[in-house]
Amino acid sequence: MDDRRGGMAAETTVVIVGAGPAGMSLANFLQRRGVGCVVLEARDREYVEGRQRAGVIDHRAEEIFGEFGLAEQVAGGAPLETLLEIRVGGVPRLLDVPGLAGGRPSRLVPQQLLVQRLIRSFLDGGGDLRFGVGDVTPRDLDRERPRVTYGDGELSCSYVAGCDGFHGVSRRSVPDGVLTTYSFDHGIGWYTVLAESPAPRYPLMAVSRHGFAAQFARGPHASRFYLQHPTGEDPRQWPDEYTWEQLRLRLGDDGLRDGRITGREVVDMRSFVAEPMAYGKMFLVGDAAHIITPMGAKGMNLAIADAYLLARAIVAAERDGDVSGLAGYSSACLRRTWDYQEFSRWYTEMMHFAGDESDAFRRRLALARLDRLFSSPPAAAAFADLMAGTAV
Ligand SMILES: Cc1cc2nc3c(=O)[nH]c(=O)nc-3n(C[C@H](O)[C@H](O)[C@H](O)COP(=O)(O)OP(=O)(O)OC[C@H]3O[C@@H](n4cnc5c(N)ncnc54)[C@H](O)[C@@H]3O)c2cc1C
Repeated sequence: MDDRRGGMAAETTVVIVGAGPAGMSLANFLQRRGVGCVVLEARDREYVEGRQRAGVIDHRAEEIFGEFGLAEQVAGGAPLETLLEIRVGGVPRLLDVPGLAGGRPSRLVPQQLLVQRLIRSFLDGGGDLRFGVGDVTPRDLDRERPRVTYGDGELSCSYVAGCDGFHGVSRRSVPDGVLTTYSFDHGIGWYTVLAESPAPRYPLMAVSRHGFAAQFARGPHASRFYLQHPTGEDPRQWPDEYTWEQLRLRLGDDGLRDGRITGREVVDMRSFVAEPMAYGKMFLVGDAAHIITPMGAKGMNLAIADAYLLARAIVAAERDGDVSGLAGYSSACLRRTWDYQEFSRWYTEMMHFAGDESDAFRRRLALARLDRLFSSPPAAAAFADLMAGTAV
């Protein structure tokens, strides 16, 4: 399609930059409400659909997909085992997280599966999604009709949705001095391996003096493991035997079966927030505006929650001329973002410091925090509420 017919830019209501969880959720929500949009994605479809990262959709995200009639089609997946196992020095303790949250389970839906489903649903509905698009540049963001140029194309629109992740172009298109950014490095290294090793009975997190480790199911015959590692070292160089030895030690499980390791990654234990999440007619969504440590599994869920609020706001503005949702978009998203940042840091410190013998006082504090989850029902319920995802 020629986007500059007769020198005029082609038109749509929303240009969505990026086809990750944020962009594809937004595209589907808008499509379901009859609002026109075009999605521009820098990479090819195979790359986008194969990118493995997050694994869990929280209950709030499932409710959001449900509101658009997409729950089964997009968010369908095994409900996470009722119990979460937290093993301290090899001793298991079980927490009924969905029960404590009032019967709100999360679901095991790997990120690549979610994105594949969202892409299929959008294309089946006649959506306009362009892969492999270079030089995407949002322009005239402070005007009534912004433009997005790319390759040799150009689109004029009412709104730009910057859904292009932490390294994308959207946030960088905001003029200097407009955004305030906050970042925090937890000073903790995380190594994650995907392996053909039987799934654990329950999602498992383990505290030990050898360092933190976790094991989660990725189907019945595969597991994703996480291991804390000293910062400044690249654990992808560890021999496999050493990785398995460390996992057995930390999980307190001599019988842990090893298997072929099919993926190795180092995960950033960094947090970042940009405020506000809007500039003129552009709105930042998901990782374009904030990144969060994986502890608590909130990164993808925040992206979906942002997309939901933006879709609602755009629909209200387009259908009823009500722009209050757009005006309040940034502050509403940031309230949840900071709430989850606090939760993720709280969780990270508890699970890492509780085994760290280098600081005895801090270790006892972390153990007290952990113990409170098993001795105080209100404390456990507050934890479970955040795991299930908050509505506001
Ligand atoms: C290694 C790793 C492990 C993680 N583990 C978890 C986890 O266990 N649980 C969890 O909840 N979260 C996890 N996350 C975070 C989660 O993956 C992100 O929060 C989520 O992907 C955010 O979605 P998004 O759509 O905002 O951004 P992204 O997924 O980054 O998608 C952005 C899209 O924009 C495209 N793009 C970028 N630049 C441009 C451009 N200039 N023009 C056009 N398109 C562009 C990209 O190709 C990409 O498709 C993890 C992240 C990483 C890196």
